[in-house]
Amino acid sequence: MEERKDFSDLKREVIDEGKCALCGGCVTTCRLLDLGYLSMNFSAERPVIGEELQCPVNCGYCYYQCPRVEKPELREGLEEIYEVVSKDEEIKNACPDGGVVTSLLASALADALVEGAVTVADKEGAMSEVRIAMNKAGLIENAGGTYESAAALTGIADAILNYGLWTVALVGTPCQMAAYEKMLTVGRGTHNAHNFSSVVRLRVGLFCEGAYSNEDLKREGCKICEDLTGRFSDLSVGSIGSPAGASTVIVHTDLGKEVFESARQWGFIEAKPLDQAGVDLIRQKQQEKKEAGKAEKERRKQ
Ligand code: SF4
Ligand code: SF4
Ligand code: SF4
Repeated sequence: MEERKDFSDLKREVIDEGKCALCGGCVTTCRLLDLGYLSMNFSAERPVIGEELQCPVNCGYCYYQCPRVEKPELREGLEEIYEVVSKDEEIKNACPDGGVVTSLLASALADALVEGAVTVADKEGAMSEVRIAMNKAGLIENAGGTYESAAALTGIADAILNYGLWTVALVGTPCQMAAYEKMLTVGRGTHNAHNFSSVVRLRVGLFCEGAYSNEDLKREGCKICEDLTGRFSDLSVGSIGSPAGASTVIVHTDLGKEVFESARQWGFIEAKPLDQAGVDLIRQKQQEKKEAGKAEKERRKQ
């Protein structure tokens, strides 16, 4: 029987090799999450185990959940691309980015599709913080956070354990969406991944062109990233391709389409198909990121 791998293998094969995306998937699926065994250290750019702690024998959930050990498989889906503006005045006035993500989440809350949303908020002079928003005011308060600097996925545990929620929306970067996809497809048999994947009803990905470390140097793990738009989400949102004040939304799944159309119908957003120049720009940038990620992987093999 093949020996089961564990955190020491994750450290050696992914973290020490500069491949870690800092997605937080391993922390979220750690068997001892409740004990704070594994945590994200964003200053050191790595997940770390508490000092002098030892993993239980035959565990290794973290290893098998990591999207950088093995990429999740992309399932066929839709790819409808829109130029979108928020029509909710309160949200629009409060959100410097135009408020499209907030409007989509507010609509999903109003529709009772979800009871809360896992988001990330920036705190002045401090690290970004994962927060649960359960109404429009909460969404507005948390809007515009730096998702690359917080383990958004751990918010699912927070939503279940501390807020008692059964249905949540998850917002995150493409690598966080890929990590969640691994929970959904690979981790069904593990307790955290199983519980978590049954409560996440909606995944909203955020376009990501790369994340910078505290020293303004590009993160090593981002250099091998190939996903610009968050393909493992129901809906993804970003600014590429749309004029100032509007956002680009890509609908990837039937559920995403339902949420999008409902937000349109109830006046949270206004949308039109993105023009060809915008679509071409997204495809070009996606291709550039993919090629850069592949080239870096090749370079590291030499
Ligand atoms: S307890 Fe298990 S899941 Fe947590 S870090 Fe150790 S091997 Fe990984
Ligand atoms: S890529 Fe994500 S799951 Fe893998 S080691 Fe890094 S933080 Fe953990
Ligand atoms: S570039 Fe963005 S999506 Fe890719 S690993 Fe870095 S933070 Fe994650």
